[in-house]
Amino acid sequence: MAVTEPAPAPPLAPHEGILRRQSLRESAARTYARSLPIVPVRARGLTIEGADGRRYLDCLSGAGTLALGHNHPVVLEAIKKVLDSGAPLHVLDLATPVKDAFTTELFATLPREFADNARIQFCGPAGTDAVEAAFTLVRAATGRSGLLAFTGAYHGMTAGALAASGGAEDVRVTRLPFPQDYRCPFGTGGEHGAELAARWTENVLDDPKSGTPAPAGMIVEPVQGEGGVNPAPDAWMRRMREITAARSIPLIADEVQTGVGRTGAFWAVEHSGVVPDVMVLSKAIGGSLPLAVIVYRSELDTWKPGAHAGTFRGNQLAMAAGAATLAYVRENGLADRAAGLGARMLASLRALASHHPCIGDVRGRGLMIGVELVDPEAAPVGTGGEAPPDPVLATAVQQECLRRGLIVELGGRHSTVVRLLPPLTLTDEQATAVVDRLADALAAAARSPYRRTATAAIR
Ligand code: PMP
Repeated sequence: MAVTEPAPAPPLAPHEGILRRQSLRESAARTYARSLPIVPVRARGLTIEGADGRRYLDCLSGAGTLALGHNHPVVLEAIKKVLDSGAPLHVLDLATPVKDAFTTELFATLPREFADNARIQFCGPAGTDAVEAAFTLVRAATGRSGLLAFTGAYHGMTAGALAASGGAEDVRVTRLPFPQDYRCPFGTGGEHGAELAARWTENVLDDPKSGTPAPAGMIVEPVQGEGGVNPAPDAWMRRMREITAARSIPLIADEVQTGVGRTGAFWAVEHSGVVPDVMVLSKAIGGSLPLAVIVYRSELDTWKPGAHAGTFRGNQLAMAAGAATLAYVRENGLADRAAGLGARMLASLRALASHHPCIGDVRGRGLMIGVELVDPEAAPVGTGGEAPPDPVLATAVQQECLRRGLIVELGGRHSTVVRLLPPLTLTDEQATAVVDRLADALAAAARSPYRRTATAAIR
């Protein structure tokens, strides 16, 4: 009998080859690339086109970076202008017309009371480096070394920023409760829960035996992003301002993710009217290119030359793209637009939750939205009797979204919060398409037979 050769494997499509080489050559620590196996080749606004020819609605927006979506014409124009001008692209931290214009535009957007008496430090081009700079600044200014940070926080991946993030440990960081309605640690939620959280903070600071190292600063995200989209109540933010001011503790607002209109105000601290001592800014301020700064009350400016240095603090293209983005958001009222559209999307998602018991909570502010997925059939957990988080379902929803051409990120303590961070230029029709695709993905994932098996295997 003739032996037949096995049929040769069909050749890989170019994008499959790229993905395969990526998985063979890149680090095990890679992140988004694992859950989003796509190869972007073109992008405009909300849409990314993959090398496979498929189009996706991108609600990850470079982890909240792209205030104007991909390749906005004003951003491209600003970049081209610098390139065509012959200006140097690398200038360390020297003065340039591009930097001067960026600083002027940034200061014009900041709360007046703050900007009128502020200094800026250009940092290495990542949010985490600016967080480090903020810590160095307040430690130098106060002569103290402790830090106050919150449960669920995320501030970056360098040693100091990581130590201040929830889930990390550092003897110099005192962890305080961040108020949350859903899964409130005090079992009450609402104003009362936030008040209890504030009282805990006050008590820890005033108790000489609380074991708290003298704090050089308090760092807070006005809306926690990676922690699962937890908006800080405005009254609680004001309490944090009072508590820190009364004890001469600088308040550091980490607006890396919440800045530039994202939450429905140009800067999220504006919702509460709080004037912080330090603001940490990155992501959207670079108009899709890397840029990070801290802006702070000038009295804190007591650190020495070189106290926070770095080679890449002069990204001219990012400053030009950033200035164009800031101006566009300001001139076109995109923060207000984010507030209105975000409220409508939250309402649609809450309506969806009433038909889907696996949606435990829908929350957010502006166009920073989270949908927490739970297992409604499992025994309740926690003080508020909420259903337990369902990571298997969340992963399935993310994959079903991708199949429907929608890119979403997962966040939160157990990676069970579907996060939406669309560009502020999102149209009403696009917003409807996003919610429809998510609803469809949710329905498909919830009835998937794999889900039950996988959930059972985990328990
Ligand atoms: N702070 C916040 C609030 C963030 O969301 C992030 C990034 N997600 C960072 C700091 C760190 O920024 P980067 O990843 O650019 O270092």
